[in-house]
Amino acid sequence: MKVKERILTSAHRQPAALPHTGIASFCKAPYVFEIAEMQADVAILGVPFDNMASMRPGCRQAPRALRDASTRFGWLGDAAGSSGFFDIGNQATFLSGIRLIDAGDVDVRLDAPVTRERITAHARSIIDRGLFLASIGGDHSVTFPLLAAFEKYAPLTIVLLDAHMDYRDISMDLKFSNNSPFRRAHELSFVERIVTVGVRGIKSTDREYRESLEHGNLVFPMDRVHDDGIMAIINEIGELGNYYVSLDIDGLDPSIAPGTESPEADGLSFRQARQLLRGISKHGRLVGVDIVEVNPYLDHAELTQHIAVQLLIETIASGFPNTAAKL
Ligand code: MN
Ligand code: MN
Repeated sequence: MKVKERILTSAHRQPAALPHTGIASFCKAPYVFEIAEMQADVAILGVPFDNMASMRPGCRQAPRALRDASTRFGWLGDAAGSSGFFDIGNQATFLSGIRLIDAGDVDVRLDAPVTRERITAHARSIIDRGLFLASIGGDHSVTFPLLAAFEKYAPLTIVLLDAHMDYRDISMDLKFSNNSPFRRAHELSFVERIVTVGVRGIKSTDREYRESLEHGNLVFPMDRVHDDGIMAIINEIGELGNYYVSLDIDGLDPSIAPGTESPEADGLSFRQARQLLRGISKHGRLVGVDIVEVNPYLDHAELTQHIAVQLLIETIASGFPNTAAKL
């Protein structure tokens, strides 16, 4: 191909280009902002909002940082879909044939109620278009307005990886903070139950723990992970039906994910998180995912950002089990 032609055809998409070149879309996938033009299987949607980060703000920068980090996993595909990623541990290639787009960011505002409405509306328009929605926050308050858009997947189970319960009714006079997304989610008529794994530390209250259990949810503190192992937890969770995964990066151990507002020692290893996410995918259908609370300002060597991207890609893959071609 002549140089001039190559420049023209690569203007929209540069699958083979070096990671650091061009404007960073997620995995260097096509950037498609117009809903009517979205012809793909998976949409990445940024939610750069962290007004509820009360102590160490900065995770509003995560969508940009994660996109930058994700260029390492440049989407090696064309309009027909990706050639997939080879997972040597599992001896399988996953996400082959899947078409990914970067849908840009929700047009967030500094006003939180307005922002919540915009998050739900934007998410719903992508879901209604038939795409699998993977969102990158933002603080954990963005998960409730995202979940509000998943009504068509009723009854819906939520699986949460988090060091904290995030199940407070009211926190600092606020109903919609990053301490409350799952209490609010419980109030959605189509949410069946919430499964939380990895809770530890001394920040969650006994009240939110007790109330979550009273509401029929499952809570697996980190001690249960240590004592019984992930496989026992997967069995106890049982059949999920339609489920949504919310990944608070502080669910992982801070030794591998230090870049977050509220790190808690003794968290999930990457292996445990992956084992859980893969395991439950055999007992239900993943319909959406978000990853939140990554704070690039607090990160070291961009470690958290790179791990967050890989965890997100692998979680998306668990929603497309048929693309995992065994060797
Ligand atoms: Mn947390
Ligand atoms: Mn959280």
